[in-house]
Amino acid sequence: MGLNSKLTTISLMALNILTRRQVCPEDDFLIEQHDLLAFSLANPTHAEGKTQDHEWADISLLETGIVRIEPKQDATISLVLSAGIHGNETAPMELVNQILKDVLDMALTCSVRLLVIFGNLPAANLGQRFIEINMNRLFSGAWKKEEGFEPQRAGLIEKSIADFFADGPQEAQRIHYDLHTAIRGSKYPKFVVYPYLHERPYSSEQLGFLEASGIEAVLLSHQSTTTLSYFSSELHQADAFTVELGQVAGFGQNDLTKLSEINKTLRHLISASALPSKAAAQIKVFQVIDVLNKDAQDYQLNIDADFENFTSFDAGFKLSQSNLSHYLVQQEGDALVFPNTKLPIGQRAGLMVREVSLAALNQV
Ligand code: ZN
Repeated sequence: MGLNSKLTTISLMALNILTRRQVCPEDDFLIEQHDLLAFSLANPTHAEGKTQDHEWADISLLETGIVRIEPKQDATISLVLSAGIHGNETAPMELVNQILKDVLDMALTCSVRLLVIFGNLPAANLGQRFIEINMNRLFSGAWKKEEGFEPQRAGLIEKSIADFFADGPQEAQRIHYDLHTAIRGSKYPKFVVYPYLHERPYSSEQLGFLEASGIEAVLLSHQSTTTLSYFSSELHQADAFTVELGQVAGFGQNDLTKLSEINKTLRHLISASALPSKAAAQIKVFQVIDVLNKDAQDYQLNIDADFENFTSFDAGFKLSQSNLSHYLVQQEGDALVFPNTKLPIGQRAGLMVREVSLAALNQV
């Protein structure tokens, strides 16, 4: 090749780059089409980390399924949105993906520090809750006692959250919504689990946000756990919640209009960096009054196969029985959540809950 033709080739390449720049100012995509979900499902176990410096923010792909946005303007809120910690819970992944795409497209202003996490991508590809271990039992260090992909991923997720909160301004408000969908139906299709707060008060601002987001019920957790929301709540003092948004369905089979309220409130939170000022008034609050334990192989719950969470019973109803024990419902209206008997002896077969008044909660 002569010098002239070499120069022509080089100038054509330069022209090509220039033209592409003109067509799309962000031709050097961090994530193709700004579609984190498609990218992550195509790279389920690993992706090389990289950062792009934009006029309005530094945007980093930390690992596959994990994107961090640091706006150039001072932010007063550090917000974590996680979805797909259970791989088959696709609706929240689709919702968060669309919100992130709009942020990256600059169709939605991002005024908060934002960390987006898609949890279990290999399981998502298989349409399964998990591959080997339920990831939402692996946080607050529980992953260190296990081996395999899910414990490693849980450790990575913990680190990305710990770094994210630590790197933010000390006074920034820390918020984490861990979005899920449930296996079974529920009397309240949208509800949250409020992690056990030990001595801290409940947040009336967050209860207002949740009500505005279409959440109908709040279950107050009564003990330390190894869930992701408890990790952010207890170890990082965040306002953190496990948010259940209806029932499981496959990718593309979700009716996202059912999530229009939380779609709106999350977008408002991200763009305005503000929570709704209206306090909750309707939201139902339940506290745990008993834990049902599978104590024998013949342990059974006297409920229908299509039992819905928060279904209540008459006082005296024999709810469970085994050759070692039985459980009688204490009070009219006491309800059951998360029933499950397909587990080893000694594990939790369900939680008995009782409604308490919203006004009675210790809130700030
Ligand atoms: Zn889940």
